[in-house]
Amino acid sequence: MKTVKIRNRKEEIVVGKMICVGRNYADHAKELGNEVPNKPVVFIKPSSSIIYTGGKVIHPKFSNNLHHEVELLLLIGKTIKDADDKLSEEAIAGYGLGLDMTLRDLQNEARTKGDPWTISKCFDTSAVISDFVLKSDYRLTLNEEITLSVNGNIRQKEKLNLMLFKPIQIVKYISSLLTLEEGDIIFTGTPAGVGKVVPGDKLHAEIEGIAKLDCEVV
Ligand code: ZN
Repeated sequence: MKTVKIRNRKEEIVVGKMICVGRNYADHAKELGNEVPNKPVVFIKPSSSIIYTGGKVIHPKFSNNLHHEVELLLLIGKTIKDADDKLSEEAIAGYGLGLDMTLRDLQNEARTKGDPWTISKCFDTSAVISDFVLKSDYRLTLNEEITLSVNGNIRQKEKLNLMLFKPIQIVKYISSLLTLEEGDIIFTGTPAGVGKVVPGDKLHAEIEGIAKLDCEVV
């Protein structure tokens, strides 16, 4: 069982499922040769893949192309299904920062074959997550910048307002497909600049006002 820490709160929240949105920034969809979608692309990551800031991303032996994807995370605070805008907004308890580590070679192979890309997204240590900040302690404006650097060199840097689907739209859409529950985490997609990392690389991610995150690939 994995939990997340909340800024200014003692109790930790048990993580449920993690739902990820793909291709949510136009420039990133283009860099991977994908169409810009007219509805969010969604997939799941298991909570067993979680590690925290200061942790180590273990490079799987069965891949030669491990990529970083830095993303804004939403923490769900109540059970919703088929939510409207208002309920979707209310269901967002807080915000965090995460890395959706991805085995790009396995993902591309699966896409070519028409197979599920599960393993490329669900391997152990593939979800690096920060502490969260509650909505009552922080007001998201989407003018925040999200950045990721590898060994001190900036690879990803974008304003959150370039997301194609904004947090409320994402929650509303996912709740139209399946029930969201307290403790679920949503990965909202990554901006352009994804790229390969290898053992020894040190990653640093940040969203102004929300969180910072450090990890090392081993
Ligand atoms: Zn992602």
